[in-house]
Amino acid sequence: MLFDEPSPPALPLRRVSVCVPLHVDGCFDYLTETTEPLLGRYVTVSFAGQKMMGVVWGDEGTSTLPNAKLKTIAEVHWLVPPMQEALRSTITKAAHYNCAALGNMLRLAMPVMEKAADTRLKPRKTAPTDAPALVPTHHTLTPDQHAAAHTMQAALLQGFQPFLLDGETGAGKTEVFFEVAEAAMREGLQVLLLVPEIALSVPLLKRAEARFGFTPTLWHSSETPAKRREALRAILNGSARLIIGARSALFLPYASLGLIIVDEEHDSAFKQEGTGMYSVMYHGRDMGVLRAREERIPIILSSATPALETLVNADRGKYHHLKLTRREGQAALPTVHLLDMRREKLARQHWISPTLQQRLQDALNRGEQSLLFMNRRGYAPLVLCRACGHRYECPNCTAWLVFHASKRRMQCHHCGLSVPMPPHCPSCQADPEQLVACGPGVERIEEEVRGLFPIARLCVISGDSTEDPKRLKALLEAASAGEIDIIIGTQLLAKGHHFPKLTTVGVVDADAGLQGGDIRAGERTYQLLHQLAGRAGREEARGRVFVQTYQPDHPLMQALAAWDREGFLRLEMEKRQRAAMPPYGRLCAVIVEGEPEEKAVEVARALSMSVPNIQGVQILGAAPAPLYKLRGQYRLRFLVVAPKSTDMHAVVKPWCDAVPHPKSVSIRIDVDPVSFL
Ligand code: ADP
Ligand code: ZN
Repeated sequence: MLFDEPSPPALPLRRVSVCVPLHVDGCFDYLTETTEPLLGRYVTVSFAGQKMMGVVWGDEGTSTLPNAKLKTIAEVHWLVPPMQEALRSTITKAAHYNCAALGNMLRLAMPVMEKAADTRLKPRKTAPTDAPALVPTHHTLTPDQHAAAHTMQAALLQGFQPFLLDGETGAGKTEVFFEVAEAAMREGLQVLLLVPEIALSVPLLKRAEARFGFTPTLWHSSETPAKRREALRAILNGSARLIIGARSALFLPYASLGLIIVDEEHDSAFKQEGTGMYSVMYHGRDMGVLRAREERIPIILSSATPALETLVNADRGKYHHLKLTRREGQAALPTVHLLDMRREKLARQHWISPTLQQRLQDALNRGEQSLLFMNRRGYAPLVLCRACGHRYECPNCTAWLVFHASKRRMQCHHCGLSVPMPPHCPSCQADPEQLVACGPGVERIEEEVRGLFPIARLCVISGDSTEDPKRLKALLEAASAGEIDIIIGTQLLAKGHHFPKLTTVGVVDADAGLQGGDIRAGERTYQLLHQLAGRAGREEARGRVFVQTYQPDHPLMQALAAWDREGFLRLEMEKRQRAAMPPYGRLCAVIVEGEPEEKAVEVARALSMSVPNIQGVQILGAAPAPLYKLRGQYRLRFLVVAPKSTDMHAVVKPWCDAVPHPKSVSIRIDVDPVSFL
């Protein structure tokens, strides 16, 4: 042969950009030989010396580096369905909106996939795991309910459309959204039902199971990795039809998402506030609306006490407002009675007024159930030494230690520190008899109630009960079955539980929520009290709610007593509008957090010196955060107050990014803050 056989031409390498689930903002270019479309594909790449799974975010490279400097994609996971465009754009937009690193946002979408080359996720050819096993049951809807369900069903497969489903507790919101969910599933679509706290949603899960005849897929971050992987596989291959999840379920790669439902949409538990490098702060409800828009599907926001933000959106016609009125034959709304604590005589270290005691006695005499609400865990929020005045403070946080009598321990409710009661005062060595517990928590109210009604059957349900989910479930079941006479509990009780025998609700300290400078304090107190009232008298007997308050003339208390939601909202909206606060203006918090203290202060000072000067935008601070020390970190806050139309990202991100900070100090951006601590 005259010529050497030509070697096959080297395949041209092309560039794609890959997003990796790390604390980095932006994508990185990699080379690949494949000519197949790669957009959205899960790939294994090496990054900073480590192999990891990422997602192809762009068809073309973005860097100016020569090919020689780039790495090649190690593996394309052809068996895993690619991440759809709608999810990718949700992630990109959510990262922008929340001023978060793109990689951190992506982590939320690949919760159990970040380990390199996890092909165990590829769809299995097995039958759907949630095949019908039960006989579905459902009610005939009332004309109102039917009309609402019909309107929303008609929106399926018709693009993005947000609905506010608004109606008193018991009006049938759940029945209605189940009806819509069923229609969606019949179309072969997946339905995501978001709940504020999965631990409290057992009754809803049971109801969904009874209604649809199969067990919904659960998604929450405290499940074992194996269970989550199983759930994720079903979500990816479409065999999971109804997914009930906490906010972290929002960013999962659904095969055919067709409807999102946000139950109790006003609940502040939808706001993700976590700390740490990888955490992203976002509002689950708002990100739900974003995802629905990107997916071009309807979303239902359901509540008996919608958030002001949501109501304003409905008033402006952005959300379709569907109102459910109460059903015929349903127990009448409970009556609300304000107990003027200025007139009631309380014995020292007692919190239940003679009037409330009498009402509890009346209920006991009739064999009915009561609920006492006290929104504080433990026995007493503060312990001090009578001899020297020493107060027990958390060494890591700006907070008192809460005395938990049942455990004989003092605990910090911010960092979780838990220490046994000391044998004597650490400051003056006085005897334990000198220690006084100040103020009440649920345990102390239980003690008082036990003294008042020695033979009544009591139970306490609080955040501490969630440490033992089995016990919590048993308690809730006993309470629902009427095996408890007086339930004492925190706001855990305000959510979702149905206690058929409950007729009397007592709110021990209704004023507590109104203290503190939070802009939503009034709204939240109203929502909480309203939801609590909604627990009473759901069946035959009419409920009564007794609210102990030192401010019976407060407009909020008056509105509550009159069940005048519109009146309350009007006042609250005027107040917010005057102050240009949300939902009429926008807020963003910038939190400097770290140690040592001097370094944190230094970073805050540097931010202060470079505050951007933007027309209409006010930047307040830096001020020490109310929780100045939290888990040993020192914290300072800025608050950005801006007109509603402001792009917060443009205001805040360049400002924060330009200030150098040591590793031990972080600058966190909290867009639309819910907590101001
Ligand atoms: P909400 O979600 O608004 O609080 P639910 O959907 O939970 O209301 O309804 C409250 C109770 O009334 C539930 O026990 C539900 O099964 C029942 N219910 C609602 N609508 C109907 C109906 N049309 N027929 C019979 N029972 C109904
Ligand atoms: Zn602490």
